[in-house]
Amino acid sequence: MLEVVQLEKDYGDLRVLNGVNFRVREGELVSIIGPSGSGKSSMLRCCNLLEQPTAGQIIFDGLDITREDVNINAVRQNMGMVFQQFNLYPHLSVLKNVTLALRYVKKMSTHEANELAMRALEQVGLKHKADARPNQLSGGQQQRVGIARAVALKPQIILFDEPTSALDPELVNSVLAVMRELRGLNMTMLVVTHEMGFARDASDRVLFMDGGVVAADGKPEAIFSATDNERLRSFLSRFH
Ligand code: ADP
Ligand code: MG
Repeated sequence: MLEVVQLEKDYGDLRVLNGVNFRVREGELVSIIGPSGSGKSSMLRCCNLLEQPTAGQIIFDGLDITREDVNINAVRQNMGMVFQQFNLYPHLSVLKNVTLALRYVKKMSTHEANELAMRALEQVGLKHKADARPNQLSGGQQQRVGIARAVALKPQIILFDEPTSALDPELVNSVLAVMRELRGLNMTMLVVTHEMGFARDASDRVLFMDGGVVAADGKPEAIFSATDNERLRSFLSRFH
Protein backbone atom coordinates (compact mmCIF):
# COMPACT_ATOMS: atom_id res chain seq x y z
CA MET A 1 0.00 0.00 0.00
CA LEU A 2 2.77 2.42 1.02
CA GLU A 3 6.49 2.05 0.46
CA VAL A 4 8.99 4.65 1.61
CA VAL A 5 12.38 4.34 -0.08
CA GLN A 6 15.57 6.14 0.99
CA LEU A 7 13.56 9.15 2.15
CA GLU A 8 15.63 12.21 3.06
CA LYS A 9 14.44 15.55 4.42
CA ASP A 10 16.47 18.66 5.11
CA TYR A 11 15.23 21.87 6.68
CA GLY A 12 17.91 24.27 5.45
CA ASP A 13 21.19 22.88 6.78
CA LEU A 14 19.45 20.51 9.18
CA ARG A 15 19.07 16.92 7.98
CA VAL A 16 16.14 15.35 9.85
CA LEU A 17 15.48 12.25 7.72
CA ASN A 18 18.54 10.36 6.61
CA GLY A 19 17.40 7.46 4.46
CA VAL A 20 14.10 6.18 5.84
CA ASN A 21 12.88 2.83 4.47
CA PHE A 22 9.76 0.85 5.34
CA ARG A 23 6.53 -0.59 3.95
CA VAL A 24 2.94 -0.72 5.11
CA ARG A 25 0.84 -3.53 3.67
CA GLU A 26 -2.89 -3.35 3.06
CA GLY A 27 -4.85 -3.81 6.29
CA GLU A 28 -1.81 -3.38 8.53
CA LEU A 29 -1.59 -1.12 11.56
CA VAL A 30 2.01 0.05 11.86
CA SER A 31 3.03 2.09 14.91
CA ILE A 32 5.99 4.46 14.91
CA ILE A 33 7.72 5.09 18.19
CA GLY A 34 10.87 7.02 19.00
CA PRO A 35 12.27 9.99 20.88
CA SER A 36 11.11 13.55 20.34
CA GLY A 37 12.98 15.14 17.44
CA SER A 38 13.78 11.82 15.76
CA GLY A 39 11.81 12.83 12.64
CA LYS A 40 8.50 10.99 13.14
CA SER A 41 6.25 13.93 12.23
CA SER A 42 8.48 14.99 9.34
CA MET A 43 8.36 11.47 7.97
CA LEU A 44 4.57 11.25 8.27
CA ARG A 45 4.12 14.65 6.63
CA CYS A 46 6.38 13.59 3.76
CA CYS A 47 4.13 10.56 3.18
CA ASN A 48 1.26 12.79 2.01
CA LEU A 49 3.58 15.55 0.78
CA LEU A 50 2.54 18.08 3.42
CA GLU A 51 6.34 18.36 3.46
CA GLN A 52 8.34 18.07 0.26
CA PRO A 53 10.92 15.27 0.54
CA THR A 54 14.51 16.30 -0.23
CA ALA A 55 15.24 12.89 -1.79
CA GLY A 56 13.78 9.41 -1.99
CA GLN A 57 10.49 7.91 -3.08
CA ILE A 58 7.03 7.51 -1.62
CA ILE A 59 5.26 4.73 -3.48
CA PHE A 60 1.55 4.78 -2.70
CA ASP A 61 -0.64 2.08 -4.21
CA GLY A 62 2.00 1.50 -6.91
CA LEU A 63 2.49 5.17 -7.81
CA ASP A 64 5.59 7.22 -6.94
CA ILE A 65 3.82 10.31 -5.61
CA THR A 66 7.04 12.35 -5.46
CA ARG A 67 7.04 12.51 -9.26
CA GLU A 68 6.29 15.97 -10.59
CA ASP A 69 3.43 14.88 -12.84
CA VAL A 70 1.40 13.38 -9.98
CA ASN A 71 -1.78 15.17 -8.92
CA ILE A 72 -1.18 15.26 -5.19
CA ASN A 73 -4.66 16.54 -4.39
CA ALA A 74 -6.13 13.42 -5.94
CA VAL A 75 -3.65 11.26 -3.99
CA ARG A 76 -4.45 13.02 -0.71
CA GLN A 77 -8.13 12.12 -1.04
CA ASN A 78 -7.03 8.55 -0.50
CA MET A 79 -4.84 9.38 2.51
CA GLY A 80 -6.57 10.51 5.69
CA MET A 81 -4.64 12.39 8.36
CA VAL A 82 -5.41 12.79 12.06
CA PHE A 83 -3.47 15.48 13.93
CA GLN A 84 -2.41 15.86 17.54
CA GLN A 85 -4.32 19.16 17.83
CA PHE A 86 -7.53 17.89 16.11
CA ASN A 87 -7.58 20.86 13.66
CA LEU A 88 -11.38 21.19 13.72
CA TYR A 89 -13.11 24.38 12.59
CA PRO A 90 -14.51 25.92 15.80
CA HIS A 91 -17.29 27.89 14.07
CA LEU A 92 -18.71 24.82 12.29
CA SER A 93 -20.87 22.07 13.73
CA VAL A 94 -19.44 18.59 14.17
CA LEU A 95 -21.42 17.44 11.12
CA LYS A 96 -20.13 20.30 8.96
CA ASN A 97 -16.56 19.59 10.04
CA VAL A 98 -16.98 16.07 8.71
CA THR A 99 -18.85 16.98 5.50
CA LEU A 100 -16.61 19.87 4.45
CA ALA A 101 -14.09 17.85 2.44
CA LEU A 102 -16.80 15.52 1.14
CA ARG A 103 -18.70 18.45 -0.33
CA TYR A 104 -15.90 20.70 -1.52
CA VAL A 105 -13.12 18.23 -2.37
CA LYS A 106 -15.15 15.17 -3.32
CA LYS A 107 -17.96 17.34 -4.74
CA MET A 108 -20.74 15.30 -3.14
CA SER A 109 -24.27 16.58 -2.75
CA THR A 110 -25.25 17.80 0.73
CA HIS A 111 -27.52 14.80 1.12
CA GLU A 112 -24.84 12.27 0.16
CA ALA A 113 -22.18 13.99 2.30
CA ASN A 114 -24.48 14.14 5.33
CA GLU A 115 -25.29 10.47 5.02
CA LEU A 116 -21.63 9.42 4.87
CA ALA A 117 -20.72 11.80 7.68
CA MET A 118 -23.46 10.49 9.96
CA ARG A 119 -22.27 6.95 9.34
CA ALA A 120 -18.69 7.96 10.23
CA LEU A 121 -19.91 9.76 13.36
CA GLU A 122 -21.84 6.68 14.35
CA GLN A 123 -18.67 4.64 13.95
CA VAL A 124 -16.86 6.84 16.50
CA GLY A 125 -19.89 6.94 18.83
CA LEU A 126 -20.77 10.61 18.24
CA LYS A 127 -23.86 10.61 16.07
CA HIS A 128 -25.75 12.36 18.87
CA LYS A 129 -23.23 15.25 18.78
CA ALA A 130 -23.67 16.07 15.08
CA ASP A 131 -25.12 19.52 15.80
CA ALA A 132 -22.72 20.45 18.58
CA ARG A 133 -19.76 22.82 18.16
CA PRO A 134 -16.28 21.41 18.79
CA ASN A 135 -15.85 23.48 21.98
CA GLN A 136 -18.89 21.75 23.48
CA LEU A 137 -17.04 18.43 23.28
CA SER A 138 -14.29 16.91 25.39
CA GLY A 139 -10.83 16.60 23.83
CA GLY A 140 -11.39 12.89 23.34
CA GLN A 141 -14.67 13.53 21.55
CA GLN A 142 -13.04 16.22 19.40
CA GLN A 143 -10.36 13.79 18.35
CA ARG A 144 -12.98 11.18 17.51
CA VAL A 145 -14.56 13.80 15.24
CA GLY A 146 -11.11 14.21 13.68
CA ILE A 147 -11.06 10.47 13.06
CA ALA A 148 -14.62 10.49 11.68
CA ARG A 149 -13.58 13.24 9.27
CA ALA A 150 -10.73 11.07 7.99
CA VAL A 151 -12.85 7.89 7.86
CA ALA A 152 -15.72 9.56 5.97
CA LEU A 153 -13.43 10.12 3.00
CA LYS A 154 -12.99 6.34 2.75
CA PRO A 155 -9.23 6.68 2.36
CA GLN A 156 -6.93 3.76 1.58
CA ILE A 157 -4.72 4.66 4.55
CA ILE A 158 -4.99 6.93 7.59
CA LEU A 159 -1.90 8.64 9.02
CA PHE A 160 -2.08 9.52 12.72
CA ASP A 161 0.42 11.92 14.33
CA GLU A 162 0.28 11.43 18.11
CA PRO A 163 -3.53 11.45 18.15
CA THR A 164 -3.76 11.18 21.94
CA SER A 165 -0.84 13.38 23.06
CA ALA A 166 -2.99 16.47 23.60
CA LEU A 167 -5.57 14.60 25.71
CA ASP A 168 -6.06 14.32 29.44
CA PRO A 169 -5.09 10.78 30.47
CA GLU A 170 -8.66 9.70 31.22
CA LEU A 171 -9.71 10.55 27.64
CA VAL A 172 -6.94 8.64 25.86
CA ASN A 173 -8.63 5.24 25.92
CA SER A 174 -11.81 6.38 24.18
CA VAL A 175 -9.71 7.44 21.17
CA LEU A 176 -7.53 4.32 21.20
CA ALA A 177 -10.70 2.20 21.35
CA VAL A 178 -11.95 3.80 18.13
CA MET A 179 -8.58 3.14 16.48
CA ARG A 180 -8.71 -0.50 17.57
CA GLU A 181 -12.17 -0.79 16.04
CA LEU A 182 -10.89 0.63 12.76
CA ARG A 183 -8.17 -1.94 12.82
CA GLY A 184 -10.82 -4.62 13.24
CA LEU A 185 -12.39 -3.29 10.03
CA ASN A 186 -9.01 -3.75 8.30
CA MET A 187 -8.31 -0.04 7.86
CA THR A 188 -4.66 0.49 6.92
CA MET A 189 -3.10 2.79 9.51
CA LEU A 190 0.28 4.38 10.21
CA VAL A 191 0.33 5.70 13.76
CA VAL A 192 2.95 7.82 15.50
CA THR A 193 2.34 7.24 19.19
CA HIS A 194 3.77 7.42 22.70
CA GLU A 195 1.15 4.93 23.92
CA MET A 196 3.38 1.90 24.32
CA GLY A 197 0.52 -0.37 25.43
CA PHE A 198 -1.31 0.42 22.21
CA ALA A 199 1.82 0.02 20.06
CA ARG A 200 2.47 -3.32 21.70
CA ASP A 201 -0.97 -4.91 21.49
CA ALA A 202 -2.73 -3.19 18.57
CA SER A 203 0.07 -3.11 15.98
CA ASP A 204 0.98 -5.60 13.31
CA ARG A 205 4.43 -4.01 13.22
CA VAL A 206 6.35 -1.35 15.11
CA LEU A 207 8.99 0.99 13.71
CA PHE A 208 11.50 2.62 16.05
CA MET A 209 12.76 5.92 14.66
CA ASP A 210 15.96 7.35 15.99
CA GLY A 211 18.16 10.08 14.53
CA GLY A 212 16.26 10.33 11.25
CA VAL A 213 16.27 6.63 10.34
CA VAL A 214 14.16 3.58 11.09
CA ALA A 215 16.48 1.98 13.62
CA ALA A 216 14.29 -1.06 14.25
CA ASP A 217 11.33 -2.59 12.41
CA GLY A 218 9.56 -5.70 13.58
CA LYS A 219 6.63 -7.38 15.21
CA PRO A 220 5.66 -5.82 18.55
CA GLU A 221 6.87 -8.88 20.50
CA ALA A 222 10.31 -8.53 18.93
CA ILE A 223 10.53 -4.74 19.33
CA PHE A 224 9.41 -4.73 22.95
CA SER A 225 11.73 -7.52 23.97
CA ALA A 226 14.72 -6.21 22.00
CA THR A 227 17.76 -6.55 24.16
CA ASP A 228 20.40 -6.16 21.47
CA ASN A 229 19.48 -2.58 20.49
CA GLU A 230 20.85 -0.26 23.17
CA ARG A 231 19.07 2.91 21.94
CA LEU A 232 15.73 1.14 21.70
CA ARG A 233 16.15 -0.42 25.14
CA SER A 234 17.01 2.94 26.63
CA PHE A 235 14.01 4.58 24.92
CA LEU A 236 11.60 1.91 26.14
CA SER A 237 12.95 2.02 29.69
CA ARG A 238 11.50 5.56 30.01
CA PHE A 239 8.01 4.12 29.85
CA HIS A 240 8.27 1.69 32.74
P1 ADP B 1 9.35 14.15 16.03
O1 ADP B 1 7.99 14.19 15.45
O2 ADP B 1 9.95 12.78 16.07
O3 ADP B 1 9.43 14.80 17.37
P2 ADP B 1 10.01 16.11 14.00
O4 ADP B 1 9.86 15.51 12.67
O5 ADP B 1 8.91 17.00 14.48
O6 ADP B 1 10.33 14.97 15.06
O7 ADP B 1 11.34 16.97 14.05
C1 ADP B 1 12.60 16.47 13.65
C2 ADP B 1 13.59 17.62 13.63
O8 ADP B 1 13.23 18.54 12.60
C3 ADP B 1 13.63 18.42 14.92
O9 ADP B 1 14.97 18.80 15.16
C4 ADP B 1 12.78 19.63 14.60
O10 ADP B 1 13.18 20.74 15.36
C5 ADP B 1 13.06 19.82 13.13
N1 ADP B 1 11.93 20.45 12.39
C6 ADP B 1 10.69 19.95 12.28
N2 ADP B 1 9.92 20.72 11.50
C7 ADP B 1 10.71 21.74 11.08
C8 ADP B 1 10.51 22.88 10.23
N3 ADP B 1 9.33 23.11 9.64
N4 ADP B 1 11.55 23.70 10.04
C9 ADP B 1 12.75 23.46 10.61
N5 ADP B 1 13.01 22.42 11.41
C10 ADP B 1 12.01 21.55 11.66
MG1 MG C 1 6.15 14.82 16.20
